[in-house]
Amino acid sequence: MSKLKIAIQKSGRLSEKSLNLLKESGINISNGTSKLRAEAKNFPIEVLFLRDDDIPQYVEQQVADIGILGKNEVLEKGKNVTIIEELGFAACRLSLAIPKGESYSGLKYFNNKSVATSYPNILSQFFANNNITAELEEIGGSVEIAPSIGLANAVCDIVSTGSTLITNGLKEVETVLKSQAVLIANKELSKEKRDILDKLLFRIKAVIRSSENKYIVLNAPNEAIDKISGILPGMKSPTVVPLAKQGWSSMHSVVKEDEFWDVIDQLRTLGAEGILVIPIEKMVL
Ligand code: ATP
Ligand code: ZN
Repeated sequence: MSKLKIAIQKSGRLSEKSLNLLKESGINISNGTSKLRAEAKNFPIEVLFLRDDDIPQYVEQQVADIGILGKNEVLEKGKNVTIIEELGFAACRLSLAIPKGESYSGLKYFNNKSVATSYPNILSQFFANNNITAELEEIGGSVEIAPSIGLANAVCDIVSTGSTLITNGLKEVETVLKSQAVLIANKELSKEKRDILDKLLFRIKAVIRSSENKYIVLNAPNEAIDKISGILPGMKSPTVVPLAKQGWSSMHSVVKEDEFWDVIDQLRTLGAEGILVIPIEKMVL
């Protein structure tokens, strides 16, 4: 039986989270990342550990069938592969930054300026779309020091918190691209491999969904049940169980992580008490 080959980053910001996603999807990899490849015992998949820069090319050439890496790297390399799922981790952005003492008047600031970057393809496309003529200095790393050593007027680099820019006397002025880890695939997978991929995707989606949602349990006066059901729709509708105490019920439902605090405030206003919020291990629809 054929196996699906997945390429993940050997060592770097994506390695541990990529392995973890596979593990949470029930895929046990025998050896760690010390070797170039590893096999799963309980799923028809083989893992290749590579530099993230090489993954798009390997997936295009079907050395690997699928891969996990930053969307920024996928778009920069421009290989003929498909992005099939956003994975919800390694969130960052590709941003333009200038020396903090400069006044910024909008994108036209960059006309006739030089910009250091490791993302020349994405950046030249961005400038072209906005009718800006700038000179790009392509460098491999430590982009943020370019202005202070006189290599360029500005930089375009990956930012997550922005602290590296600030430490180097720069300020972020434009977002060129929002990025996160994505799953990419070769465009011509066999039917057999496509079936394995569908199984894997079903599991990955359940894992992502579970991390984006919480299970919520609370006590409510019976007259508030209808209103609370409106706020907490759950997967179908909330479970309502009577409490031993007359006139009260326990309600169980699911709430989105990012709406969580808003929802809690509304629930308290409606008279909810004893609110418990519990992580979800897997969420299958
Ligand atoms: P490799 O040795 O595999 O080429 P790398 O140095 O290119 O590794 P990392 O620094 O490990 O790559 O980053 C991998 C990806 O993590 C980036 O392409 C980006 O999508 C994401 N990322 C998230 N936050 C950040 C950040 N603050 N700085 C850089 N990359 C980040
Ligand atoms: Zn890299």
